[in-house]
Amino acid sequence: MPIPCQIAGCKSTAPAALEGQKLCVLHYTLSLETSCSEMRRETALGNAPHERQREIMRFITESGEKLARVATSGMPLTDDLKARILSTFLTLMNLRENLDRANMRSSPGRSGAFR
Ligand SMILES: [Zn+2]
Repeated sequence: MPIPCQIAGCKSTAPAALEGQKLCVLHYTLSLETSCSEMRRETALGNAPHERQREIMRFITESGEKLARVATSGMPLTDDLKARILSTFLTLMNLRENLDRANMRSSPGRSGAFR
């Protein structure tokens, strides 16, 4: 049985890679965009605790993997959804870059701390 998307009013189902999230591809990318912009705000000043930064790094990696799995699973995706997936990848990459930059600013000489 396919798992329906948990967003009210959405008639799509969750692909296998997103069954844990109970989200269709569209709503998964939207929720990622929202999370990323929150995390971006949170880390912009470079004073998020290290533990939280590590958590965000993990989030970026796991989300990227999940998204890649959906994108390459062979499920039919409209051009619009493909474009959305790519732009969500870009958002994840930019957040990661921002995190590194904020981290460098806040602790000079320790830029390699989060490898
Ligand atoms: Zn949905």
